[in-house]
Amino acid sequence: MPITDEEASKIKEQLLTQLDNFPEDKREQIQTQINSMTNEQIEAFVKQNQLTHLNGGCIFCSIIANKTPSYKIAESPDGTAILEINPLSKGHALIIPKEHLEEIPESIRSLAQQVATKLKETFSPNDVQINELKIMDHALLEVVPIYGDETEKKQATEEELKSLQNQITGEAKEETSETEEDVEEDEGDEEVPVLPPRIP
Ligand SMILES: [Zn+2]
Repeated sequence: MPITDEEASKIKEQLLTQLDNFPEDKREQIQTQINSMTNEQIEAFVKQNQLTHLNGGCIFCSIIANKTPSYKIAESPDGTAILEINPLSKGHALIIPKEHLEEIPESIRSLAQQVATKLKETFSPNDVQINELKIMDHALLEVVPIYGDETEKKQATEEELKSLQNQITGEAKEETSETEEDVEEDEGDEEVPVLPPRIP
């Protein structure tokens, strides 16, 4: 989705605050470059640096962008459901809105319901809870099957997560949504300034 003029100018402002990180003799050049960027170039820059939002470094945005490996179990146009890697119980899942929002978008709740139903069918827990969370300002839902013997969150192994993923999705496929190391780093023609990948 193309960015608006308003978004573009916000991003420019953010980028300009990073100028201090550059050697003095480069600053003016970079400043000029930033100011002359078109909306398309700004957008390309944001993509290239995976700044899915301006705060940078959000793990959930990174998962949505397939930059961080995860165990996907369901997806909708607005959200992705993955397995919690430190689950409280078997099948503990996170429903991540694709947009970095501080409020849960209503559209995401049906995906959570869908996952809850799937977990009930697959693991027959006594109950399934759906809770709202906000981590790193990214609102999300968690779906927690309750078996009655939950104590504390424990880190799951890769094998456990893969096996759960297969049971839930009913697919015996090997691949997870692991990050492709060779994601095209296409240099593009866009003349965009090189800035640190994180905007604090
Ligand atoms: Zn985020």
